[in-house]
Amino acid sequence: MNVAKDAVVSMDYTLHVEDELVDQGQLDYLHGHKNIVAGLEDALSGKAVGDKVSVVVPPEKGYGLYDPEGVQVLEREAFPADADLEEGAMFYAEDPQGNPMPFTILGIEGQDVTVDFNHALAGETLNFDVTVTGVRPATAEELAHGHVHGEGEHSH
Ligand code: ZN
Repeated sequence: MNVAKDAVVSMDYTLHVEDELVDQGQLDYLHGHKNIVAGLEDALSGKAVGDKVSVVVPPEKGYGLYDPEGVQVLEREAFPADADLEEGAMFYAEDPQGNPMPFTILGIEGQDVTVDFNHALAGETLNFDVTVTGVRPATAEELAHGHVHGEGEHSH
């Protein structure tokens, strides 16, 4: 079968930003459910096992444009007392719907903690090289959850 909505796609991939390798590995995802960045998902539509895809994804179809308003100053008291606050550390806040919102600490000055809610790859053009290694129909349970389940284990 070819990659289409509700297919589970397996792939080997590398991700370069400019000439730097920032990620590589193997990934299974559920096509058509925004499990991966839009530009890569679009490029994989209609592909089959063995196909190789090289795609340049602009920020708008990747991790978004860099938003200056994503940089905010929080009070040190907003963090747990035992939190290890240091430059570069990542934490998670929750939006009003309870979705995790990761952010990175940019700096600490007295009681002020400057943080950045932008994705580390926001504003970057992403260069993916992908080989499709598997395509199968999703199970009913995977479709209900909107993501792929591994073999055997399911812990949520
Ligand atoms: Zn699930």
